Amino acid sequence: MKCKACGGPAAINMRHHKLALCGEHYLEWVPQQVQRFIEKYQMFSPQDKLLVAVSGGKDSLSLWDVLLRLGYRADGVYIGLGIDGGVNYSDQSHEKIVQFMAKFWPQAKLHVVDVEQTYGMTIPELSLARRREAKPCSVCGLNKRHIMNRVAVEGGYTLVTGHNLDDEAAVLMQNTLRWQVGYLARQSPVLEATHPKFARKVKPLCRFYEREMAAYAIVRGIDYIYDECPHAEGATTLFYKTLLNQLETNSPGAKLSFYLEFLRARQEGLFQKAHDEVVLHECEYCGQPTSAPGLCSFCRIWDRGADAREPAGELGLPVAGG
Ligand code: SF4
Ligand SMILES: [Zn+2]
Ligand SMILES: [Zn+2]
Repeated sequence: MKCKACGGPAAINMRHHKLALCGEHYLEWVPQQVQRFIEKYQMFSPQDKLLVAVSGGKDSLSLWDVLLRLGYRADGVYIGLGIDGGVNYSDQSHEKIVQFMAKFWPQAKLHVVDVEQTYGMTIPELSLARRREAKPCSVCGLNKRHIMNRVAVEGGYTLVTGHNLDDEAAVLMQNTLRWQVGYLARQSPVLEATHPKFARKVKPLCRFYEREMAAYAIVRGIDYIYDECPHAEGATTLFYKTLLNQLETNSPGAKLSFYLEFLRARQEGLFQKAHDEVVLHECEYCGQPTSAPGLCSFCRIWDRGADAREPAGELGLPVAGG
C-alpha cells in the first residue's frame, strides 16, 4: 500500500475514504480534516477560548495537540476522579497529560480539579456511599459533566470534547434502539448554550474513527493511557461498539454513514419537537441549569442544600462553591 500523496510506504489505509497515507502526510491530513469539520459545523473561530476535556487517552490528547497545532487558544481541563482499580488509573492518566505537555506544549495551560480534594470523596467512594453501587459510572458521568461545565462557564470557554465516531455511533445506536428522541435531539457535533450557565459544547473528532485517532497519536509520538478505565468493562457502549465494528468489517463506511445520515435527518428537523420541549430550571444550590426544579443531580448526590438527606457539614464536604 502506497501513500496517495507521495508514493512512499503507507502508515494507514482508510478503506472508507479510499485513502492511504504515510506518517508524514497523515499528520498533515488529520488537522486539515479537523479544521474542515470546525468550519462545516461552525464550531468556533480563532478568537474563541477553548477548553479541552483531557483524560490522558488518545482522543483527548490528540485533539488538544491538533487544536494547538492549528493555532487555536486551547487550554485543558483534567478531572481527578480518584479511580484506582488496582492500576492507579487516575494518577496514571494525569501523569500522561503532564508528560504530553512537557514534550509538546510546555506553555499550555491545564486546569486540574481533584474531586476528592475539592468535594471530600473520590468518585468510587461517593458512588458507594450514596447509591450503594460498586460501578461508579453514572455518578462519575454526572460529576464530570457538572465540573467541566462549571470550569468552562467560569472561564468563558467553549467546551471541546474528544468524542470520536465510534463513541458517537455507539450512543446513537443505543438511543435509536430505544427511540430516545430527547437524547437523539441533543446528539450533535455542536450543542449550543441554551442557558447562560451552560457552556457551548463541541466535538471536532466526531467524524474520525477510533483507529484513526490511535494512529495519529502513535505516528505523532503521543504517549497515552492505553487501558480503558477499570470500570468500563461490561459497559453497554462497548457492546454497541463491538456490534458496529462487525458491521463495519462487512461494509466499510457503515459506521460513518449511520452517523452522517442521522445528522442529516436531525438537520432536517426530525427531532426538533423533542428539542424544543426541554424546559430548564436553575439549581437552587449551585445555579447550574437542570431539567427538574429544585437541586441539580450533582448537588443532590453531594447532599447539598435544604433537601439534603444528610447535612453536608457532617460528612466534611465543602458547603460552598462548585
Ligand atoms: S468507565 Fe465509568 S467510572 Fe470510568 S471514567 Fe468512564 S464513566 Fe467514569
Ligand atoms: Zn506521503
Ligand atoms: Zn446544583
